[in-house]
Amino acid sequence: MERDVRGIVFDLRKYSVHDGPGIRTTVFLKGCPLSCLWCHNPESQSFWPELLHRPSACIGCGACIAACPEKALAPSPDGGVVLDRKRCILCGACCRACVADALEMAGKSLSVAEVMATVREDVLFYDQSGGGVTFSGGEPLSQPVFLAALLRACRGEEISTAVDTSGYAPSETLLAVAELADLFLYDLKHMDSRRHEEVAGVPNELILENARLLSERNVPLWIRIPLIPGINDDEKNLCDTGAFVATLQSVRKVSLLPYHPSGRDKYRKIGRAYALSSLTTPSSEEMERAVELLSRSGLSVMIGG
Ligand code: SF4
Ligand code: SF4
Repeated sequence: MERDVRGIVFDLRKYSVHDGPGIRTTVFLKGCPLSCLWCHNPESQSFWPELLHRPSACIGCGACIAACPEKALAPSPDGGVVLDRKRCILCGACCRACVADALEMAGKSLSVAEVMATVREDVLFYDQSGGGVTFSGGEPLSQPVFLAALLRACRGEEISTAVDTSGYAPSETLLAVAELADLFLYDLKHMDSRRHEEVAGVPNELILENARLLSERNVPLWIRIPLIPGINDDEKNLCDTGAFVATLQSVRKVSLLPYHPSGRDKYRKIGRAYALSSLTTPSSEEMERAVELLSRSGLSVMIGG
Protein backbone atom coordinates (compact mmCIF):
# COMPACT_ATOMS: atom_id res chain seq x y z
CA MET A 1 0.00 0.00 0.00
CA GLU A 2 1.32 3.44 -0.93
CA ARG A 3 0.38 4.84 2.49
CA ASP A 4 2.97 2.47 4.01
CA VAL A 5 5.86 3.79 1.88
CA ARG A 6 8.52 5.14 4.25
CA GLY A 7 11.16 7.84 4.00
CA ILE A 8 13.60 9.66 6.27
CA VAL A 9 12.24 12.96 7.57
CA PHE A 10 14.29 15.30 9.74
CA ASP A 11 11.65 17.92 10.56
CA LEU A 12 7.96 18.69 10.18
CA ARG A 13 7.25 22.40 10.65
CA LYS A 14 3.73 23.76 10.97
CA TYR A 15 2.46 27.30 10.29
CA SER A 16 5.30 28.14 7.91
CA VAL A 17 4.82 31.34 5.88
CA HIS A 18 8.13 31.39 3.97
CA ASP A 19 7.93 28.18 1.94
CA GLY A 20 5.26 29.05 -0.61
CA PRO A 21 1.88 30.82 -0.62
CA GLY A 22 -0.34 31.03 2.47
CA ILE A 23 0.09 29.05 5.68
CA ARG A 24 1.90 25.79 5.12
CA THR A 25 3.25 22.67 6.73
CA THR A 26 6.82 22.07 5.59
CA VAL A 27 8.07 18.49 5.52
CA PHE A 28 11.87 18.27 5.48
CA LEU A 29 13.21 15.12 3.81
CA LYS A 30 16.71 14.12 4.83
CA GLY A 31 19.60 13.73 2.40
CA CYS A 32 21.04 16.05 -0.23
CA PRO A 33 23.58 15.55 -3.05
CA LEU A 34 24.73 19.17 -2.63
CA SER A 35 26.93 20.53 0.15
CA CYS A 36 26.45 24.31 -0.01
CA LEU A 37 28.96 26.10 2.22
CA TRP A 38 26.18 28.30 3.66
CA CYS A 39 23.63 25.51 4.26
CA HIS A 40 21.58 26.43 7.32
CA ASN A 41 20.33 22.88 7.75
CA PRO A 42 23.60 20.88 7.80
CA GLU A 43 21.80 18.03 9.55
CA SER A 44 19.76 17.66 6.34
CA GLN A 45 22.72 16.73 4.13
CA SER A 46 23.45 13.18 5.21
CA PHE A 47 20.98 10.52 4.08
CA TRP A 48 21.27 8.85 7.48
CA PRO A 49 20.12 9.82 10.97
CA GLU A 50 22.61 11.94 12.95
CA LEU A 51 23.06 12.62 16.64
CA LEU A 52 22.77 16.32 17.59
CA HIS A 53 24.59 17.34 20.76
CA ARG A 54 23.76 20.67 22.46
CA PRO A 55 26.14 21.04 25.45
CA SER A 56 24.56 24.36 26.50
CA ALA A 57 21.33 22.52 27.42
CA CYS A 58 23.05 19.80 29.44
CA ILE A 59 22.34 19.69 33.20
CA GLY A 60 25.05 17.09 33.88
CA CYS A 61 22.75 14.37 35.19
CA GLY A 62 24.76 11.58 33.52
CA ALA A 63 21.67 9.63 32.42
CA CYS A 64 22.95 9.43 28.84
CA ILE A 65 26.29 7.97 29.97
CA ALA A 66 24.48 5.19 31.81
CA ALA A 67 22.19 4.57 28.82
CA CYS A 68 24.88 4.34 26.15
CA PRO A 69 25.72 0.71 25.25
CA GLU A 70 28.87 1.72 23.36
CA LYS A 71 30.59 3.90 25.97
CA ALA A 72 30.49 6.76 23.46
CA LEU A 73 29.65 9.30 26.18
CA ALA A 74 31.83 10.31 29.11
CA PRO A 75 31.83 13.07 31.75
CA SER A 76 33.54 16.28 30.64
CA PRO A 77 35.60 18.53 32.96
CA ASP A 78 32.95 21.29 32.71
CA GLY A 79 30.25 19.07 34.24
CA GLY A 80 28.64 18.04 30.96
CA VAL A 81 29.41 15.13 28.65
CA VAL A 82 31.76 14.54 25.73
CA LEU A 83 30.61 12.52 22.75
CA ASP A 84 32.94 10.21 20.82
CA ARG A 85 31.21 10.07 17.44
CA LYS A 86 33.50 7.25 16.25
CA ARG A 87 32.03 4.90 18.85
CA CYS A 88 28.41 6.04 18.41
CA ILE A 89 26.13 3.58 16.57
CA LEU A 90 23.15 5.98 16.48
CA CYS A 91 20.95 3.76 18.63
CA GLY A 92 19.18 6.77 20.17
CA ALA A 93 19.26 5.42 23.76
CA CYS A 94 20.90 8.60 25.07
CA CYS A 95 18.24 10.84 23.45
CA ARG A 96 15.51 8.87 25.20
CA ALA A 97 17.37 9.15 28.51
CA CYS A 98 18.08 12.89 28.29
CA VAL A 99 15.39 14.99 29.99
CA ALA A 100 17.10 18.25 28.99
CA ASP A 101 16.89 17.76 25.20
CA ALA A 102 20.66 18.13 25.01
CA LEU A 103 20.85 15.07 22.76
CA GLU A 104 18.53 14.63 19.82
CA MET A 105 18.40 12.35 16.78
CA ALA A 106 18.00 14.22 13.47
CA GLY A 107 16.10 12.08 11.01
CA LYS A 108 13.55 9.36 11.54
CA SER A 109 11.73 6.91 9.35
CA LEU A 110 8.09 7.92 8.76
CA SER A 111 5.40 6.43 6.56
CA VAL A 112 3.21 8.39 4.16
CA ALA A 113 0.29 7.75 6.52
CA GLU A 114 2.23 9.18 9.49
CA VAL A 115 3.22 12.34 7.60
CA MET A 116 -0.32 12.80 6.29
CA ALA A 117 -1.77 12.52 9.79
CA THR A 118 0.19 15.67 10.76
CA VAL A 119 -0.43 17.44 7.45
CA ARG A 120 -4.19 16.89 7.71
CA GLU A 121 -4.42 18.66 11.09
CA ASP A 122 -4.16 22.09 9.42
CA VAL A 123 -6.36 21.73 6.36
CA LEU A 124 -8.52 24.59 7.61
CA PHE A 125 -5.52 26.95 7.66
CA TYR A 126 -4.50 25.90 4.15
CA ASP A 127 -8.01 26.47 2.83
CA GLN A 128 -8.38 29.89 4.45
CA SER A 129 -4.93 31.19 3.49
CA GLY A 130 -4.36 29.60 0.08
CA GLY A 131 -1.61 27.51 1.64
CA GLY A 132 -0.76 23.82 1.63
CA VAL A 133 2.24 21.55 2.08
CA THR A 134 5.83 22.14 1.01
CA PHE A 135 8.25 19.26 0.65
CA SER A 136 11.74 20.54 1.34
CA GLY A 137 15.04 19.14 2.49
CA GLY A 138 17.72 18.25 2.10
CA GLU A 139 16.78 17.57 -1.47
CA PRO A 140 13.28 16.03 -1.60
CA LEU A 141 13.88 14.67 -5.10
CA SER A 142 16.53 12.40 -3.59
CA GLN A 143 13.70 10.31 -2.06
CA PRO A 144 11.56 10.15 -5.23
CA VAL A 145 9.32 7.18 -4.34
CA PHE A 146 8.44 8.62 -0.92
CA LEU A 147 7.98 12.13 -2.36
CA ALA A 148 5.71 10.93 -5.18
CA ALA A 149 3.60 8.92 -2.74
CA LEU A 150 3.22 11.97 -0.46
CA LEU A 151 2.26 14.19 -3.39
CA ARG A 152 -0.35 11.68 -4.58
CA ALA A 153 -1.77 11.46 -1.06
CA CYS A 154 -2.06 15.27 -0.89
CA ARG A 155 -3.68 15.43 -4.30
CA GLY A 156 -6.16 12.76 -3.23
CA GLU A 157 -7.17 15.03 -0.34
CA GLU A 158 -7.13 18.22 -2.47
CA ILE A 159 -4.22 19.70 -0.49
CA SER A 160 -2.06 22.08 -2.52
CA THR A 161 1.62 21.14 -2.74
CA ALA A 162 5.00 22.73 -3.45
CA VAL A 163 8.42 21.11 -3.90
CA ASP A 164 11.43 23.12 -2.68
CA THR A 165 14.37 21.89 -4.74
CA SER A 166 17.93 22.57 -5.81
CA GLY A 167 16.95 21.12 -9.19
CA TYR A 168 19.80 18.61 -8.96
CA ALA A 169 18.08 15.33 -9.82
CA PRO A 170 17.68 13.11 -12.90
CA SER A 171 15.38 14.92 -15.35
CA GLU A 172 12.99 11.93 -15.55
CA THR A 173 12.57 12.03 -11.76
CA LEU A 174 11.94 15.76 -11.76
CA LEU A 175 9.39 15.60 -14.59
CA ALA A 176 7.52 12.70 -12.99
CA VAL A 177 7.25 14.67 -9.74
CA ALA A 178 6.19 17.79 -11.69
CA GLU A 179 3.06 15.90 -12.80
CA LEU A 180 2.04 15.63 -9.13
CA ALA A 181 3.06 19.01 -7.64
CA ASP A 182 1.35 22.40 -7.93
CA LEU A 183 4.44 24.59 -7.56
CA PHE A 184 8.23 24.37 -7.54
CA LEU A 185 10.40 26.58 -5.34
CA TYR A 186 13.58 26.45 -7.40
CA ASP A 187 16.95 27.62 -6.07
CA LEU A 188 19.63 29.16 -8.27
CA LYS A 189 22.98 29.55 -6.55
CA HIS A 190 25.63 30.37 -9.19
CA MET A 191 25.66 30.59 -12.98
CA ASP A 192 29.30 29.55 -13.41
CA SER A 193 29.42 25.76 -13.25
CA ARG A 194 32.97 25.50 -11.91
CA ARG A 195 32.26 28.03 -9.16
CA HIS A 196 28.94 26.27 -8.44
CA GLU A 197 30.83 23.05 -7.89
CA GLU A 198 33.34 24.78 -5.57
CA VAL A 199 30.67 26.27 -3.31
CA ALA A 200 27.82 23.74 -3.60
CA GLY A 201 29.62 20.49 -4.37
CA VAL A 202 28.10 19.79 -7.80
CA PRO A 203 28.18 21.52 -11.23
CA ASN A 204 25.11 23.44 -12.40
CA GLU A 205 24.36 22.20 -15.96
CA LEU A 206 21.71 19.71 -14.83
CA ILE A 207 20.07 22.33 -12.58
CA LEU A 208 19.79 24.86 -15.42
CA GLU A 209 18.56 22.22 -17.88
CA ASN A 210 15.90 21.02 -15.41
CA ALA A 211 14.68 24.61 -14.92
CA ARG A 212 14.30 24.91 -18.70
CA LEU A 213 12.39 21.62 -18.87
CA LEU A 214 9.94 22.72 -16.15
CA SER A 215 9.44 26.05 -17.89
CA GLU A 216 8.76 24.35 -21.26
CA ARG A 217 6.02 22.32 -19.55
CA ASN A 218 4.59 25.46 -17.98
CA VAL A 219 5.17 24.20 -14.42
CA PRO A 220 4.76 27.19 -12.03
CA LEU A 221 8.15 28.25 -10.64
CA TRP A 222 9.15 30.47 -7.75
CA ILE A 223 12.84 31.17 -8.30
CA ARG A 224 14.82 31.68 -5.09
CA ILE A 225 18.31 33.17 -5.16
CA PRO A 226 20.34 33.18 -1.93
CA LEU A 227 22.66 36.20 -1.78
CA ILE A 228 25.94 35.00 -0.27
CA PRO A 229 28.53 37.79 0.13
CA GLY A 230 31.80 37.05 -1.69
CA ILE A 231 30.36 33.92 -3.30
CA ASN A 232 27.59 34.87 -5.73
CA ASP A 233 27.06 38.61 -5.28
CA ASP A 234 29.36 39.88 -8.04
CA GLU A 235 27.91 41.93 -10.89
CA LYS A 236 28.53 39.33 -13.61
CA ASN A 237 26.88 36.49 -11.73
CA LEU A 238 23.82 38.51 -10.76
CA CYS A 239 23.35 39.85 -14.32
CA ASP A 240 23.81 36.33 -15.75
CA THR A 241 21.32 34.92 -13.23
CA GLY A 242 18.75 37.58 -14.14
CA ALA A 243 19.26 36.95 -17.86
CA PHE A 244 18.77 33.20 -17.39
CA VAL A 245 15.62 33.56 -15.28
CA ALA A 246 14.20 35.98 -17.87
CA THR A 247 14.29 33.15 -20.44
CA LEU A 248 11.99 30.95 -18.30
CA GLN A 249 8.34 31.34 -19.23
CA SER A 250 6.61 29.83 -16.20
CA VAL A 251 8.20 31.96 -13.45
CA ARG A 252 5.58 33.38 -11.09
CA LYS A 253 7.92 35.01 -8.60
CA VAL A 254 11.63 35.76 -8.11
CA SER A 255 12.92 36.13 -4.54
CA LEU A 256 16.33 37.24 -3.34
CA LEU A 257 17.12 35.71 0.04
CA PRO A 258 19.84 37.29 2.21
CA TYR A 259 22.51 35.02 3.67
CA HIS A 260 21.93 34.50 7.37
CA PRO A 261 24.33 32.72 9.74
CA SER A 262 21.42 31.10 11.61
CA GLY A 263 22.68 27.58 10.92
CA ARG A 264 26.12 28.16 12.48
CA ASP A 265 25.18 26.61 15.81
CA LYS A 266 23.87 23.48 14.11
CA TYR A 267 27.35 22.69 12.73
CA ARG A 268 28.63 22.56 16.30
CA LYS A 269 25.77 20.26 17.28
CA ILE A 270 26.70 17.70 14.61
CA GLY A 271 30.42 18.05 15.22
CA ARG A 272 31.32 19.80 11.96
CA ALA A 273 33.29 22.97 11.25
CA TYR A 274 31.44 25.92 9.66
CA ALA A 275 33.37 27.20 6.63
CA LEU A 276 31.84 30.71 6.52
CA SER A 277 32.34 31.75 10.14
CA SER A 278 33.43 35.31 9.23
CA LEU A 279 30.50 36.01 6.87
CA THR A 280 27.79 38.49 7.86
CA THR A 281 24.27 39.16 6.56
CA PRO A 282 24.22 41.52 3.53
CA SER A 283 23.17 45.09 4.32
CA SER A 284 19.95 46.54 2.88
CA GLU A 285 22.10 48.57 0.42
CA GLU A 286 23.79 45.36 -0.78
CA MET A 287 20.40 43.70 -1.18
CA GLU A 288 19.05 46.66 -3.18
CA ARG A 289 22.13 46.64 -5.42
CA ALA A 290 21.65 42.91 -6.08
CA VAL A 291 17.96 43.46 -6.91
CA GLU A 292 18.96 46.19 -9.37
CA LEU A 293 21.50 43.90 -11.10
CA LEU A 294 19.06 40.97 -11.29
CA SER A 295 16.35 43.27 -12.64
CA ARG A 296 18.38 44.50 -15.60
CA SER A 297 16.85 41.69 -17.68
CA GLY A 298 13.36 43.00 -16.98
CA LEU A 299 12.59 40.79 -13.97
CA SER A 300 10.57 41.89 -11.01
CA VAL A 301 12.56 40.74 -7.95
CA MET A 302 11.42 40.84 -4.34
CA ILE A 303 13.56 40.60 -1.22
CA GLY A 304 12.74 37.67 1.06
CA GLY A 305 9.99 35.05 0.96
S1 SF4 B 1 23.14 7.21 20.03
FE1 SF4 B 1 23.51 5.26 21.17
S2 SF4 B 1 25.66 4.80 20.78
FE2 SF4 B 1 25.38 6.94 20.21
S3 SF4 B 1 25.96 8.11 22.03
FE3 SF4 B 1 23.72 7.79 22.11
S4 SF4 B 1 23.44 5.93 23.32
FE4 SF4 B 1 25.59 5.98 22.69
S1 SF4 C 1 21.29 12.98 29.86
FE1 SF4 C 1 21.23 15.00 28.86
S2 SF4 C 1 21.34 16.47 30.55
FE2 SF4 C 1 21.96 14.47 31.40
S3 SF4 C 1 24.23 14.47 31.19
FE3 SF4 C 1 23.41 13.50 29.34
S4 SF4 C 1 23.25 15.20 27.85
FE4 SF4 C 1 23.46 16.13 29.88
